[in-house]
Amino acid sequence: MATSQHFDTVLQNGRVIDPTNNIDGNFDVGIRHGKIASIAESIAPEMADDIIDVSGQIVMPGHIDTHAHLSSPFNSNVDRAYGHAMLVESGTTTALDLAGDPTAMVTGMIQRGAGLNVASLMGLVPHQTVSEDDPRPAVLRDAIADVKKRGGFGVKMLGGYHPFTPEASSDVITAANEQLAWVAFHVGTKDSGSDMTGLREVPGITGKGRLHVAHINSYTRGMIDQPHEEVQEALGMIEKMRSQWITEAYLAQANGTNGLCDENGDVVYNVAQNCLKARGYPTTDEGVKASLMDGYGSALVERGGRVIAVTGKEAVDIWEAASTDASLSYPVNPPTSAFSLATAKYDDGTFRVDAISTDGGSLPRNVAIERTMALVQFGALSMDEAVIKLSYTPSRMLGLLNKGHFTEGADADVTVINAGTGKASMSLVAGELIMLNGRAIGKGGTWLVLEEGKDAAAATGLPYEVVNLENSRLYENWN
Ligand SMILES: [Zn+2]
Repeated sequence: MATSQHFDTVLQNGRVIDPTNNIDGNFDVGIRHGKIASIAESIAPEMADDIIDVSGQIVMPGHIDTHAHLSSPFNSNVDRAYGHAMLVESGTTTALDLAGDPTAMVTGMIQRGAGLNVASLMGLVPHQTVSEDDPRPAVLRDAIADVKKRGGFGVKMLGGYHPFTPEASSDVITAANEQLAWVAFHVGTKDSGSDMTGLREVPGITGKGRLHVAHINSYTRGMIDQPHEEVQEALGMIEKMRSQWITEAYLAQANGTNGLCDENGDVVYNVAQNCLKARGYPTTDEGVKASLMDGYGSALVERGGRVIAVTGKEAVDIWEAASTDASLSYPVNPPTSAFSLATAKYDDGTFRVDAISTDGGSLPRNVAIERTMALVQFGALSMDEAVIKLSYTPSRMLGLLNKGHFTEGADADVTVINAGTGKASMSLVAGELIMLNGRAIGKGGTWLVLEEGKDAAAATGLPYEVVNLENSRLYENWN
């Protein structure tokens, strides 16, 4: 490639890994006008305005998180907007906000954004974000059209929290598919739970449609069978639905849930009930309290502009101050399930679970990069495969054709990883530094919207990009 032109920034002498272009070696990366302009063995220093020495570090296309939380329509003890900086600090450059509200997300981006590219889904919460309990198709059609106009990619069903009937769940998928909108499912219906019973229903609910099945690891926690049996069953279902589903799994042990109890003192949400059952606690307010006092459960709280997890009496106080409607976390994800889901492949070498996500953001478990690097260290994934699961495949899932690789002219979104610690040390979006040594230094962000959301995006004054989901893996060969 030409090295005779001028560059805004050069990342010098890192180990550049770009499986799309068969690159793995020490190179300089030249960036011009926010795009990758050259990958060369050596770029003359006088050609660059700014040279960043990344010797000994890994330089990969930016981490694209297909399951993050940056906004929320729910009452919560944490401000989701802190998630922008928290994700950026862990090395992420692009995120799909998986259930909140596009308007809330962009307000957070303006106030506390840290330079991320973000696409947003609206969570379907009866009587809050959608007018009916099991919304009729016409209601769903209007709700989805409205979300797209407000800058959202689509919707998410929150089956572990606000389950619909299987029929209404199916109607959500149909309505979203008809409008080429995103549709994600935290599985579970009024007939099942947020576990394997819920996942078993999803092929039927999907019908001939397309669906993002969220965090596969959440259904393989050993609630119904042994975790390894549940993993094998889940992977079998994913194979059957290979042309219709896209999937991700995260690698943190900690989950995220909500400790809401009703007037009888019973835990309301299925996910929280499962967390308590997993260790033999009663699914009541007393059970929640004991689990927090024992240090099994944690409550989330804001400290110094970030969200952290605390246990013991401090956690009980937070939960009680929120009248039990508080964000909690339990270490319920077995590492064996995480390992299997991250590494399982088809015979042709492609991964069964498409991506490694965080399910983080404002939940303090943004460990996708460091845990994936631990799998590389362990020999379970090659470095190429790590980049495929963290960046390339996520870019295809979302139809972000200019991301996930370093082809000349691609977006200069870059994550730099310290090869020793496995943690991200630096990241850039469109050629601008947004994180350095674990500190978020970016502001605002770029809003990823569909064509219908262009006006809403333009009205914010933020940079935005229009994405066509016809290019996404979700709608691959869809007609
Ligand atoms: Zn989530």
